[in-house]
Amino acid sequence: MKIPEEPANLEKELLKCVRCGSCKVLCPTYQHSALEVTSARGRLVLLRGLLTGDIKPSPLLNERIFSCLLCGACAGKCPLGIDIPEAICHGRALLSKSDKERKQLRTIARFTTRWPDLSFKMLRMSQQVVLPFLYKKELIPFIPEFPEIVHRSRRQVYKSSQKRGRVAVFSGCSVEHLFPHLEEALIHVLNKLGYEVILPKGLVCCGAPLRTLGMEDESVARARKNLSILNKLTVEAVLSLCPTCTLTLKTDYPKMVGKGVENAMDISVFLNDKLEPARAAGKTAVYHDPCHLKYGLGIEREPREMITKAGLELIGPREQGCCGFGGVFCMSQQEMSNTLLTACTTHLKQSESDTVITSCPGCMLQLNRTVTDRPVLHLIELIEETYCFGTADEDVQEKEKTQS
Ligand code: SF4
Ligand code: SF4
Repeated sequence: MKIPEEPANLEKELLKCVRCGSCKVLCPTYQHSALEVTSARGRLVLLRGLLTGDIKPSPLLNERIFSCLLCGACAGKCPLGIDIPEAICHGRALLSKSDKERKQLRTIARFTTRWPDLSFKMLRMSQQVVLPFLYKKELIPFIPEFPEIVHRSRRQVYKSSQKRGRVAVFSGCSVEHLFPHLEEALIHVLNKLGYEVILPKGLVCCGAPLRTLGMEDESVARARKNLSILNKLTVEAVLSLCPTCTLTLKTDYPKMVGKGVENAMDISVFLNDKLEPARAAGKTAVYHDPCHLKYGLGIEREPREMITKAGLELIGPREQGCCGFGGVFCMSQQEMSNTLLTACTTHLKQSESDTVITSCPGCMLQLNRTVTDRPVLHLIELIEETYCFGTADEDVQEKEKTQS
């Protein structure tokens, strides 16, 4: 189902639905509201009405379709194989012109994804004035903290003294501008394992925030640009620290433009079998599954194995639900986002773990708002701490040199 071939394909897809309701079971927005119209099945019924003309575009319809998290909890649940998040993306593309409520968000998304360096510089400069004002007006759910240094002299190639292989890193906007230390940690770990790391020049936002807002043409343009760079590289894998970026490169691009980055990979898939078990650290961790990693990419085992290999004991509830971040969702659906965050935090706090570990910068941003009694770490931070420090080798010295 490709958006340029709309709406015939979408209609065909929606006609398959037998309304069994299997897709509703894990839908967070349905669990929150208990309303059929904000469930996976309900949204498909609304889209069908839109295509047949029985339902006209309206602020209420837009609200139902744009209130989906695109978390993917419904994906894979449909016995008829309907790709529900994809259908909802199609619906958003159809509704975007009539959707005045998110017009400002579209302008912001367009600007920040086209000029990310400038945008984040402006945000940083306005940190003390504009962001508190937007927060007070409830236009943003929280005031993000910006790192002091965005990124050091970013080289394009980080060589390793060994020659085990070569990988590329797709940084993604949130890692590059809000958590640059995660990218440094990843490069450090990969170099330590003997991999040469490429940070390809010219990459742009993966396009997911634009697609979320129904800006299909603009997300397609970002996809084509990234593909023209990534698919020319001779690398074992294209790694990302953000499951949304990985999902978009690997799974969404083929739906959008007919081809994707086949070797795009979450770091846990690439690193897991390359790590030896470390000594027990005598510490405990609870792991939070990012939705796009768990439902979108089907990855749950590898991060947990890596935590155990790193010497931590995994405790706490396995299921905590969505943290409610959802990118643009946490800005446009603040009340629902906060409720989901509270429920998720309550589950996480059932365990008295030393740390909370997750694999997504977005989840980190969200969980850091409420989990204040222990650190919330990205998996790569634990891996770097365990496998790169504590042994006086040249990598450690190199890292210290770059930090000074
Ligand atoms: S699981 Fe599939 S067939 Fe059943 S209601 Fe959901 S979309 Fe329709
Ligand atoms: S993507 Fe998530 S929020 Fe949207 S309909 Fe599916 S389960 Fe519900």
